[in-house]
Amino acid sequence: MVKELLENSLDAGAREIGIDVERGGTRLIRVRDDGVGIHRDDLLLALARHATSKVATLDDLEQVTTLGFRGEALPSIASVSRLTITSRRAGEENGWRLRAEGGLPETQVEPTPHPPGTSVEVRDLFFNTPARRKFLRTEKTEFGHLQEIVKRIGLSHFDVAIRLRQEQKDVLNLRFTDNEAERRRRLAAACGAAFAKHALEVDFQAVGLSLRGWIADPEHSRSQADLQYFYLNGRIVRDKLVSHAIRQAYQDLLYPGRHPAYVLYLDLEPTQADVNVHPSKHEVRFRDGRLVHDFLFRSLSRALDTGAGPGHAAKVMPAGGHGLVPGRKGYAPTASRVREAMDGYAALTGPAPVEPGAGDRVATSLGRALGQVHGRYVLAQNQLGLVLVDMRAARRHLAYGRLKSALANGAVRSQPLLVPVAFSLPEDLTVMVEEKSAVLHRLGFDLVNSGPDSVTVHRVPASLREAEPQALVRTLLTALAEVAPEEPAEHVPESVLAALAEQSRMAPGEPTLDELDGLLRQVERDQENSEGRPVWVQLSQDELEALFGTLQAAF
Ligand code: ADP
Ligand code: MG
Repeated sequence: MVKELLENSLDAGAREIGIDVERGGTRLIRVRDDGVGIHRDDLLLALARHATSKVATLDDLEQVTTLGFRGEALPSIASVSRLTITSRRAGEENGWRLRAEGGLPETQVEPTPHPPGTSVEVRDLFFNTPARRKFLRTEKTEFGHLQEIVKRIGLSHFDVAIRLRQEQKDVLNLRFTDNEAERRRRLAAACGAAFAKHALEVDFQAVGLSLRGWIADPEHSRSQADLQYFYLNGRIVRDKLVSHAIRQAYQDLLYPGRHPAYVLYLDLEPTQADVNVHPSKHEVRFRDGRLVHDFLFRSLSRALDTGAGPGHAAKVMPAGGHGLVPGRKGYAPTASRVREAMDGYAALTGPAPVEPGAGDRVATSLGRALGQVHGRYVLAQNQLGLVLVDMRAARRHLAYGRLKSALANGAVRSQPLLVPVAFSLPEDLTVMVEEKSAVLHRLGFDLVNSGPDSVTVHRVPASLREAEPQALVRTLLTALAEVAPEEPAEHVPESVLAALAEQSRMAPGEPTLDELDGLLRQVERDQENSEGRPVWVQLSQDELEALFGTLQAAF
C-alpha cells in the first residue's frame, strides 16, 4: 500500500518524500511529498470512486492496488482506514484538506496550512474490519515489509530524496544524489555499508541491452537471499531467468548455501519484454530470453572476473561484438548443471582446513595481510606469528584447483577476449586445434586455425583471463602435443592443467590489503588439496626469537 502512495508522489513529480510510520504502519502511515499537488476540486474525486472489489485483508488491498486498477488506490485505502489528504498546489495561498473514514469522504474540503505538495495520512488501518488483527502481521513484520518497499523504490529513484521515520526516528535517509560518490553513499544507506564498500560496479552495454549497478564480490556474498534487487526498465522484477543467469555467473565462486547480493538495472527496448504478466509476482516475459540470459551471464561473469572495485567499472563490451552472439556452442545452462557445480565445489572445499598430525606449527588461519613484498609475497600476521605466502605459487595452485574442479563439474567457464588475438605457431602445434578440439572446448578455449601456421584466439578460460593469450595458447598446445596419442580424446591430463595454471596472472594493478586478505582466505580454503610445493610458510614467534637469538650469539 505504501508502494501506491509513493508511486502517486513520484507521479506528481516529487523531489522529496517523507514517510512517517507509527506502530509498524498499523497506527499511522503518512506520506508527504513536494509534488504538484491536487486541486481542491479534485480532492473529492480522488477519494470518491468506488473500489470494484471488497477489501478485506492487506493482501486484498495489495491486490486491488498492484493489479493496477487505475484510480483505485486511494479509495481502496480509504475504505479500510481513517484517511486524510492535504494538498496545496503551487501558487495557492494554502492547502486543502479532506478526510474520509471507512471509505466515506466528508463532503467539505477545509483550508489548512500546508507547504506545496501533498500529504496522505493513513490512520488505524483496518479499524473498521472485524477481527482487525487477523489482517495484520506483527508490527515488526509490517514495518519490515514497508521498509523493504521504501528501499526498492529508493533504489530506483536516485534523483528523489526519501526519508523513512518510525516513531519520529530516522530509519532510512536516502538523500538526493548527483554523482558517483553520492550514489555509493545512498547505496550504503539502503543496502548497508559493507555492501556499498565492496560491491563491484557493473556497466555494460551491448546488442541493445544495458546493465548497470552493483554486485557483491564473492567474498561478500550473503547467508540469505535478502539483498537482491533487479530492475527492468526501472521496475523491480523477480524472475527465474534473471536469477538463474546471475547464479550462473557466480558459479563456483560462491560457497554452497551462500547467496549473491546485487542491485542491478537492466534496460532494454520496452517491446523486448512484457512485465505485466503478473504485476504482483513481478514476473517478466522476455521476447528473446536466451539473449538476455546470455547478456546477463556474460556481463556479470566479466565483472566478477575483473573484480572491479569502487570506481573501477568493468566497462563496456563492444556493441554487437563477438562475445554476445546468442546460442553459441557451450551455452547449455540447466538448473541441474549449476547444482552439480555447487555440489562439486562443496566437496572440494569442504570444512575448515586443518592438516592432521602437523602439530601446532600448522595455522588454520593465515591471519591478516600486512602488505606485499616485491610483488611476490604476502606478509601476514596470525596468532602464531608471521606468515609468508608465495603469491605466484598460490595463484598457480588456485588456478589449478579451479580448472580441475570446473572440469569435474562439466566445463570450464569461458570468456571472450575483447579483441580476438591471432599469431603464428609451428604447424605441429596448430594441428592440435583440430585434433584436440574436444579438450580445448572443455577447457573453455575457442581457437580457430586461421592458416596452416596461425591461430586466432576467441575465448579463454575465465579464471585465466589475465594471462597473456599468446603464451597461454602456445603453452597449452605444446602440452597437448606432448600427451601420449593413446590417451582418450576427451581426457585432459594433469600435465596440461599444470601448464595452464603456470600461466595464470594477477589482475593488473597494486592489490589492496582487502584483496590480499581475499587471497589468504582462498589459500586457507584450498589447504586441503595442497600437495607438492608449499604455498606459504609460518614463522612462529619462538622461531623469530630464536632467529634473533642466534644472530645475537653470532655477533
Ligand atoms: P491513480 O494513481 O491510479 O490515478 P490513485 O487512487 O492512486 O489512482 O490516485 C487518484 C488520483 O489522485 C491520482 O490520479 C492523482 O491525480 C491524485 N493523487 C494521488 N496522490 C497524489 C499525490 N501525492 N500528488 C498529487 N496527486 C495525487
Ligand atoms: Mg495511484
